[in-house]
Amino acid sequence: MQRRAFLQVAAGGGIKLSDYEPRSMLRVPEHPVRRAKFPVIDVHTHIAGPRQPGRHLTQIAACMAECNLETLMNVTGGDSSSVASIVKAMTPFGKKFLTGVEPTWKRANEPGYAKWQADDVHKGKQAGAVGLKITKTLGLYLRDTKGTLVKVDDPRFDPMWEAAGALNLPVWIHVSDPAAFFLPTDRFNERYEELENHPDWSFHGKDFPPKMELLEARNRVIARHPKTTFIGLHVANLPEDLNVVSQWLDRYKNLHVELGARIGELGRQPRSSRRFFEKFQDRILFGTDATPNGKEVPQQDLTPEMFRCYFRFLETEDEYFDYSPARVPPQGRWRIYGVGLPDTILKKVYRDNAIRMFRT
Ligand SMILES: [Zn+2]
Repeated sequence: MQRRAFLQVAAGGGIKLSDYEPRSMLRVPEHPVRRAKFPVIDVHTHIAGPRQPGRHLTQIAACMAECNLETLMNVTGGDSSSVASIVKAMTPFGKKFLTGVEPTWKRANEPGYAKWQADDVHKGKQAGAVGLKITKTLGLYLRDTKGTLVKVDDPRFDPMWEAAGALNLPVWIHVSDPAAFFLPTDRFNERYEELENHPDWSFHGKDFPPKMELLEARNRVIARHPKTTFIGLHVANLPEDLNVVSQWLDRYKNLHVELGARIGELGRQPRSSRRFFEKFQDRILFGTDATPNGKEVPQQDLTPEMFRCYFRFLETEDEYFDYSPARVPPQGRWRIYGVGLPDTILKKVYRDNAIRMFRT
C-alpha cells in the first residue's frame, strides 16, 4: 500500500535528483572568510603547462592578492624543457609562482628509460623546478608493451625516486582516486552524480586493481626511498579513513600530506579531522588542486570563492556549509563543518610547513 502511494507521488510530478536543491533551514552562526588570516602557500595547483606556460598568471595574481595567497605551486610542469618555458613565464612575478617537473610517461617503455628519466628530473631542477609530480597515470593508465598496467612500485622508476631525494625535490604523489570511484556507479555510491557526470572517472571493474593494492604499492615506494620526501596529495589519497592515514604517517617519516579537493571528506568528520591536524600539524600542507577555468570540476575552479571554502573550513567552527561554490555540491550531496584551527597550527598548514619543505 505504501509503495503504491510513493509511485503515485512520483508519477504525479516527482523531481529528478539532478533538479533537487534543498535549502537548509538551520539557523547557525556564519563566519565566511574572505581573506586568509595568514599568508598562504598553495602547494597543489595546475596553472601552467607545456602548451600554456603563462596564459592566466596576471589574472591569477589578482585573485591571490584578494585572498592573501603568497605563492602557488604549479605541480604539472611537464618535462625539463617545458619547465624551462614555464619558469620563464613565471619569473616576472617573483616568488608568486613555482613549478614542478613531471616524468615523461610516453617514454616509459623505451630502453634506457630509467636512467634517462632520472637525468631529466635533474635537468628539471636545473631549469628551476621545485618538486616532482606523479599523477594517477602511474597505476591507472600507464601500460607496458603487452598492455598490462605498470605497477606503482615498478623498479624502472627507482632511479627517478632516488634522484628526487638526492636533489631535494619533494615528490607530490597522487595514486588511485576516491574510494567511491572503485565501486559500481549504483544507488549505493556516495558519489553517484559525480560519476554520472564523469563516467571516465570510474575505476570499477575492467583490469583496474583495487584501490588499496595501488596505495600499498605506493607505500612500498615510500618505504624503499627513505631519503626522498613524499607529499601524499589529497590526504594521501585516503581522506575517507584518517585512522589509516595516521598509521602511515607514524610509519613513514618521509611522508607528508596535502588537502587538495578533499575538504568535502575532511569537513564531514570535523572531530577526527581536528585531531588529525593537531597530531600531524607539522606534516600537513595547504593545497587546493586549483585549475583556472576549471568549471567542469567546480571544487577546483580557481576563483576567490573556491579558496574561501578552504579558509572557512580551516579557520572557523561554522556548521553545515558548502565545500564548493557550485550550485549543487559537486562531489556528493553533503555539507561540511569547520575545524577552527588555532593560529599556531593554521600558520604551519598555511605556510610554514611548505617553506620548510621547499626551502625557498
Ligand atoms: Zn591535482
